[in-house]
Amino acid sequence: MSTTEPTPISSPVSDFSPERRAAVLIETLPYIQRFAGSIIVVKFGGNAMVDDDLAARFAEDVVLMHSVGIRPVVVHGGGPQIGALMDRLGIKSEFRDGLRVTDAETLDVARMVLVGKVNRDIVSSINRHGSLAVGLSGEDAGLIRASARNPELGFVGDVESVNPAIIERLLAEDLIPVVSTIGSDPSGQAYNINADTVAAALAGALGAERILYLTDVEGLLADVDDPSSRISRVDLSGLAALTADGTISGGMIPKVQACVDAVEAGVGSAHMVDGRVPHVVLLELFTDPGIGTMVLPDGGVAADGRGVEDPDTDGDGVTDS
Ligand code: ADP
Ligand code: MG
Repeated sequence: MSTTEPTPISSPVSDFSPERRAAVLIETLPYIQRFAGSIIVVKFGGNAMVDDDLAARFAEDVVLMHSVGIRPVVVHGGGPQIGALMDRLGIKSEFRDGLRVTDAETLDVARMVLVGKVNRDIVSSINRHGSLAVGLSGEDAGLIRASARNPELGFVGDVESVNPAIIERLLAEDLIPVVSTIGSDPSGQAYNINADTVAAALAGALGAERILYLTDVEGLLADVDDPSSRISRVDLSGLAALTADGTISGGMIPKVQACVDAVEAGVGSAHMVDGRVPHVVLLELFTDPGIGTMVLPDGGVAADGRGVEDPDTDGDGVTDS
C-alpha cells in the first residue's frame, strides 16, 4: 500500500447542482440517526483489500461511519496475501479437501502476514484521517479462544469462544478496533481462523446492529455464473434451502454460515456486498436501495424494520424479484 497523501474522493461531485448534492446528503439523515451509537462489524476481504484505491475508499467509509457516531469494528482476512508470501518463500502448501494444511511454518507465515502486514496497512490507511484505529490480533487480551478444527489440518482453528472486553474498552475510548483472526488456545498455541466466522462471533458477542461482508461478487447469486441473479433479501429458512439445493458452494459456504450464526446470535441483519464497488459500505448503510444481499431473521424483517417493504409472496424466504 502506498504511503502518499490520501487521494481525494474521485467522483466529480462539483458537477452536481446544489439541489442534487443536498438531496444526496439528506437521504443519509434517517440512516445516520438510526445507526448513531450502534456497533457495526465490517469484514474486509477480497479485491477491496488488495487494491490500493478500493482500500483507501474503504478507510474513508470507516472514518465517516465513526464521524457520524457509529462504532465500527473491522475484521479482516488475508488468504491471497498469505499465499503470495508462501510462494515468494518457496513454501509448498498441501491441500486436503480444498483446505490448506497449516503446519507450524505455514502458521508463522499466516500470522506474520495477517498481524504484521495486512492489519498494519488497514490501521495506517484509517489513521491517515485521524488517530482512530488500533490493530489487534485475536491473541490479544484473550479476544479469540481457538481450538484445532481437525488435527489433520494442523493449526486451522475454530472459534471456541470470544471475549469482547478489549474491543468494548477500545470502543469506549472512541477508537476503531481492527482485528486479525489469529486465535489461541489456553496453552498459548496460535491458530489461523476463517475471518468470516470470527466476524460473526464477534458481532454476536458485541450485540452489533449489523454485520457487513465485503466480497468479490455482487452478493449471493441464485446462479453463481450469472451476476444479474443477485438475491437482494433472504431469511434464514431461505438460506437453508439455498444451501441444501447446492446453490451455495466454495467460499460462500463459510460466509453464509457466518451470516446465519450472526443473525441467530441477535445481530439485526447480515449483508454480503460487492467489495469491488468503491464506497460500497457507504452505499449499503446510507442509501435507500442498498446493494448486495441482506440476510434477515425468519419472517424477513430486521429488528430495525428493514425488509418490510419487500414482498415474499410465495413464502420461500427469498424476496420475489
Ligand atoms: P471472500 O471470503 O474473500 O469474500 P470467497 O472466495 O471465500 O471470498 O467467497 C466468495 C466466492 O464464493 C465467490 O467469488 C464465488 O466464486 C463463490 N460462490 C459460490 N456459490 C456462490 C453463490 N451462490 N453466490 C455467490 N458466490 C458464490
Ligand atoms: Mg472466504
